[in-house]
Amino acid sequence: MQSRLYLARSDGSIAVLDKGNLRKCPFCTELIKPEARVCRDCGREIELVCAIAEEMSLEALQKSHHPSLPPGESVPFQAAKELGRPCKYCCPPDRATRDRLGISPYGDTPEDNEKREAYWLEQLEKLGLFPCLFVLGSSHVTSFSNLLKKSGYKAEIVHAEWWPHS
Ligand SMILES: [Zn+2]
Repeated sequence: MQSRLYLARSDGSIAVLDKGNLRKCPFCTELIKPEARVCRDCGREIELVCAIAEEMSLEALQKSHHPSLPPGESVPFQAAKELGRPCKYCCPPDRATRDRLGISPYGDTPEDNEKREAYWLEQLEKLGLFPCLFVLGSSHVTSFSNLLKKSGYKAEIVHAEWWPHS
């Protein structure tokens, strides 16, 4: 298999290891320890990353996509595709949804960010595949990992920020 290094533009990532002490085996749904690499029930190997999720919307990716990627596909999406894992864009998909959530049109207020992060968590729960690697902007890393922990998830910050500092 070809090995490839992916560099995503988003500058932070969090590993979400599911709620409490146990997580579901993606193959047989038996409850297993988060650190287990083999399911004790079906004997299958469990990958470290079962899904990738991203602070991104299909709308944004279609409006301005990377010149070398198909419209609607991000770098984490490409990585997930190669791993044979699902990738979920967790941002509100359109203006109508942002209106419903009460996110202001130019909104980057603390209240807007809180609403956005609550929506990401909802999407992660809908996806329901853990461990999940969540790719997001560095300004959200602390607040989103706090929200995850408050909601009972085990969350590890993989990279708070990986831009070189000048
Ligand atoms: Zn299993």
